[in-house]
Amino acid sequence: MNKFCYSCSAPLEMPDFKGLAENYCRYCTDENGSLKPRDEILRGIAHWFMSWQPDVDEEKALERAEYYMKAMPAWAD
Ligand SMILES: [Zn+2]
Repeated sequence: MNKFCYSCSAPLEMPDFKGLAENYCRYCTDENGSLKPRDEILRGIAHWFMSWQPDVDEEKALERAEYYMKAMPAWAD
């Protein structure tokens, strides 16, 4: 069964993403395996968008990251 990070949807079966936490990838957790603050995740996802969509500015990327995170179990209201 495929597992995905509850915070950013990274595939946890890939060693690149697997960290200490059961349900979160290494980029969404700190060195103790605890989930990072929402704001930090938001910025991380925004920069990830900008890395493969060069025409997107930071404001737009943050907007999209907000939207993206609404679909994540860790951040859904
Ligand atoms: Zn993640």
